Amino acid sequence: MINVTKTYLPPFEEYAAILKRAWDKGWVTNHGELVQELEQKLQEYLSVRNLLFCNNGTVVLQMALKAFHITKEVITTPFSYVATTNAILWEGCTPVFADIDPATLCIDADKIEDLITENTQAILATHVYGLPCNIDKIADVAARHNLKIIYDAAHAFGCKYKGQSLLNYGDVATCSFHATKLFHTVEGGCIISNDDELRKKLLLYRSFGHIGDDYYSVGINGKNSELHAAMGLAVLPQIPAIIAERKIVFESYNALLPDCISRPSYNIEQFEYNYSYYPVIFENEKLMHAAKEGLEKNSVFTRRYFYPSLNLLPHISGIKASCPISEDISSRILCLPLYPGLQESEIAMIVSVIINSIK
Ligand SMILES: *Cc1c(COP(=O)(O)O)cnc(C)c1O
Repeated sequence: MINVTKTYLPPFEEYAAILKRAWDKGWVTNHGELVQELEQKLQEYLSVRNLLFCNNGTVVLQMALKAFHITKEVITTPFSYVATTNAILWEGCTPVFADIDPATLCIDADKIEDLITENTQAILATHVYGLPCNIDKIADVAARHNLKIIYDAAHAFGCKYKGQSLLNYGDVATCSFHATKLFHTVEGGCIISNDDELRKKLLLYRSFGHIGDDYYSVGINGKNSELHAAMGLAVLPQIPAIIAERKIVFESYNALLPDCISRPSYNIEQFEYNYSYYPVIFENEKLMHAAKEGLEKNSVFTRRYFYPSLNLLPHISGIKASCPISEDISSRILCLPLYPGLQESEIAMIVSVIINSIK
């Protein structure tokens, strides 16, 4: 069986050796030594400041919205994982969807300004599949209209833009360290900002709004444990090798797939990719289903990342925004299996099943 992804698990003894430090201390959660060490090492690896390790990549989006007192309209992308929109809804805010750029599948920065009203407070955009949003244009619009920028960088671990980690852009960037992501801690995530005051606020939010016996603000439980941090400490040193192996798989697909199956544009100046996903766009939805079913008959399981277009989610009330590009692409896109160790012969089989299924 070949799944869309395969969680990297370090040698068990390596994980156990790190875990033993928590056992020896009798300390398993609440800002333990392993959590602090992981935060330090992630900051070094990513060259970012103020990284807080949290318990998932959804709560960090909620913490970001809360920290900026966002209560009204948030301009966002319809093409992302559902958590991006749900965080906005959960915080009682209104998502306003700007359609996407068909080349990068990220929010189309040129469509943001027309959607701004007196109630707009923030832009929440995803670097989808790790491809960068139009950072300069978004910064420009946000500055002119006094909006906060939150980047959902859940797919962007290890991506670089203009010599810096993609996680270093925006007023805040968040990441997910879920087991299906490139770097993982089983469950986990982080929030990053360059603002030291904001960091203090987020630190309080992460642990119920208090430090010891002193209570300062509202908060949530956004902490993560020593067991999760230990996994991160075991996986992090492998990231360069994981990215290198993913690149090999990615390039094999590039070489074998026919041109009638289109792909996003990775050819972006000053951009270094992490090879986190392999999305393919079929000519129409029928061919996408044919390929998906053909692959399933051969025990290859793809995912419809990302479907539906989030502006069409059934739990969004009121008149649905129209995002024709996102709706069209999400109806006919699939993510193919991509993980270290996927064999050249398996890639060739996947490609030939696709070709035969869409004939
Ligand atoms: C995975 C993901 C999330 C949610 O992260 P969790 O850690 O699973 O809560 C949020 N946004 C995007 C774009 C994601 O892919």
